Amino acid sequence: MKYLVIGFDDNTIYDRKAVELLNKYHMKGTFFVNSGTLNDSGFLTAGELDVLFEGHEVASHTVNHPRLKELTNQGIKYEIEQDFELLKAYSKQDIKGFAYPFGDYDKQVKDMAKESGVLYARTVKGTKKFDRPKDLLEWHPTMHLTGMAWDTNDFDRVRKGFHFLLDKLEEFLEDYNGELLHVWLHSWEFKNDVERWDMLERFFKLVSNEEDIISVTASEYIEEISK
Ligand SMILES: [Zn+2]
Repeated sequence: MKYLVIGFDDNTIYDRKAVELLNKYHMKGTFFVNSGTLNDSGFLTAGELDVLFEGHEVASHTVNHPRLKELTNQGIKYEIEQDFELLKAYSKQDIKGFAYPFGDYDKQVKDMAKESGVLYARTVKGTKKFDRPKDLLEWHPTMHLTGMAWDTNDFDRVRKGFHFLLDKLEEFLEDYNGELLHVWLHSWEFKNDVERWDMLERFFKLVSNEEDIISVTASEYIEEISK
């Protein structure tokens, strides 16, 4: 079986549009949320997390999006555990997963994540591969949606990155042993840019048309491979 896991970081209002698109193609997303920015201008509200993310997964991204390597052990644990607690209350979901803000972590941070009961912790280091993760607390995704071409107005770079993703999708389908295409992004990269949203929709359409690929949340994937 082949799986697609797609993760969206930072809980901006553009996640609403992402959910709408995912639902349209009967796909599932994993949303990494900072409880500290909820209700701020441009961000989701705490009150909408339960209904908006029904059928999707809410995961933690710390309370305040700090560079965790710069914090004390106590500070790291607070950022994770407090976020888990608040997100559980808001979303009415069991929170299991986590993504390191800025992809910033070291052994200490990883140990604290483990102590805080994190099931998996995603990094931003693209492997360009389709393998099963070796270490769930250092879960390297396959790639950023546009190969890290984000926060840029250079649309050529974005388009190039996206074509790289489409090539990767082909490669994934042809790879007999390829198990997981794991993509991450921030919906704020798209803002109200129709061309970028069309790109994302094109990807969703391609994936949903492939009978060999099932779209799952990050923790559903882990559940599947733990059977
Ligand atoms: Zn982030």
